[in-house]
Amino acid sequence: MIAASVTWAVVIYLYCSLVENPDYKTDQDIIAQDVGSHSVHKDPAQRNDGKYSKFKQNIKEETQDMGGRDGPLVSSDPPLEELGLVKTHKDQEEKEQGYRLHAFNSLISSRLSPHRSVPDTRNKRCKDIVYPDQLPLASIVICFFREEHAALLRSVHSILDRTPSQFLQEIILVDDTDEESYHEEVENEMRNLSEKIRILKTPQQEGLIRARVFGARHAVGQVLVFLDSHVEVNVGWIEPLLARVAEDTHHVVTPIIDVISPDTFQYSPSPLVRGGFNWGLHFRWDTIPSSYFADKRNFVKPIKSPTMAGGLFAMDRIYFKELGEYDTGMDVWGGENLEMSFRIWMCGGQLEIMPCSRVGHIFRRRRPYGSGSGQDSLLHNSLRVAHVWMDEFKENFLKSRPYAEKINYGDVSERVKLRENLQCKPFSWYLNTVYPELGLPDAGGKAGGGVREQAALGVRQFQPWNKRTRNYTHKWQIRLTGTNFCVESEDHPSKKSSRLVLAECSEWERQIFHQTDRNELVLAQLLCLEATDHFPLNKKCHELGGAQEWKVKSQMGIPLYNLATGLCVAAEEVRSGASIIMNMCSTPKLTNWDLVDVA
Ligand code: UDP
Ligand code: MN
Repeated sequence: MIAASVTWAVVIYLYCSLVENPDYKTDQDIIAQDVGSHSVHKDPAQRNDGKYSKFKQNIKEETQDMGGRDGPLVSSDPPLEELGLVKTHKDQEEKEQGYRLHAFNSLISSRLSPHRSVPDTRNKRCKDIVYPDQLPLASIVICFFREEHAALLRSVHSILDRTPSQFLQEIILVDDTDEESYHEEVENEMRNLSEKIRILKTPQQEGLIRARVFGARHAVGQVLVFLDSHVEVNVGWIEPLLARVAEDTHHVVTPIIDVISPDTFQYSPSPLVRGGFNWGLHFRWDTIPSSYFADKRNFVKPIKSPTMAGGLFAMDRIYFKELGEYDTGMDVWGGENLEMSFRIWMCGGQLEIMPCSRVGHIFRRRRPYGSGSGQDSLLHNSLRVAHVWMDEFKENFLKSRPYAEKINYGDVSERVKLRENLQCKPFSWYLNTVYPELGLPDAGGKAGGGVREQAALGVRQFQPWNKRTRNYTHKWQIRLTGTNFCVESEDHPSKKSSRLVLAECSEWERQIFHQTDRNELVLAQLLCLEATDHFPLNKKCHELGGAQEWKVKSQMGIPLYNLATGLCVAAEEVRSGASIIMNMCSTPKLTNWDLVDVA
């Protein structure tokens, strides 16, 4: 099983390097084709020149080949690296502001064409599939909260550009933002794009769960397709989804979620993995045994999935209603994906991934909004899931959350009634039949093996594996300017998630940070300094920049700035033992540091 996951990781790595570096080897090309890579660079003449522009050109030709699409696809964007250049203070401010508000690089987002083309990441076998001319019409529902305009616009354009209009009933944009001026701006931007766009406004911020229900209730198409507001749909994305629902309205289907980097906006393919979860009710991706793909036809067939990641799926509209929409007692974000997944399987439906449907999603390293009430909405929502759906197995979850006893998760009687009315099967049936791989907590949750949690970056995210040699550029102590206090790990440098404090400078491992060529700060060459909204932590290095990337202009008297959070490393006070926190960069006494070279 581990071998399988490694194989996939290698495949993805090869593909990623292929996108970055067209000078690939032929065998890598073959493997990449199997994860559905774009057939770029096949012509040897194109391998060594043109790089990015040739790559774009090829994609353009292929997407235009599709025929019958509405809008032209423009692929005249300059390379992403160029788009990301910060040239002026204004650029810098815009970039920082973007990370603060949206948790991604809005400088690139706003400079990208709203019609940019993306690599066709489907398996080549997908192109041979012929779909019926008649398919049920889609109502695409996109909810958004303070979404960056360019990202929202690109989401909408990608849909208009790559969805045959005869299958599109409407695009319903549900603005869940509590801001009149924002709403006006969005309306002005969207009004004239297409007569199929409908813009709705929730009365107040409802959170994505109630906002989706609000949007779905306004829809008239036969199939609801839910998408996030920062996506780019890929070539031929909708046909596999609609065709599968048309075969049986009890099929609920999801695309493969490709990765759009929040920092570079590079679009990369994701591997074929299934949705699972752990007893903490966190979503995770599970690998599929490699033996399954011995038959190459399985690369394009629907794959049964125990759970869905949440944001992107298609479902018959009447069935959505019959099955109880969503649990509207859930707040803001989280848990609804597992609730929906359990409900589908336990109450007679089927949840499947359609490998020939691909949609890119910007995976942010944090969500740029709170829960309003300040409560942890994921825990609140998960408690509702456990109490309604998990029967005696809820204890496995509750044991892992002893403090949850005091949390009021509201009234679930309506949902319990729904479960009775729909005559849903017990949770034990779901575990035995749909997700036997989960295992029980006593067995270490490992029963079938082959599972891999993508916990490092949040519960819903999949990031392609990326291996590189770590190159160190400096070895430093981080000293608060004008003092003899240095940043020190509270625990042994190998201990994950430990906090940092201010301590007398002394050259021991807890104070030695190695800077890498990717601007990470690696404590004792072990863990990476990672920003959160409140304090930095020592975390496993994920090599994806973001919260682990530190801006260092020179060595003395400088702020240690993290772009992803827009905050600086700060001492809470000037004294030994004071906490190291993340704060605004405006108090030099507490936020200016000297990076002292260590031999
Ligand atoms: N969203 C919303 N209201 C909220 C929070 C989120 O409409 O109160 C939208 C958000 O703009 C996005 C979707 O719900 O389009 C999913 O949220 P997000 O992308 O933050 O979740 P993730 O992708 O991180 O799971
Ligand atoms: Mn999202």
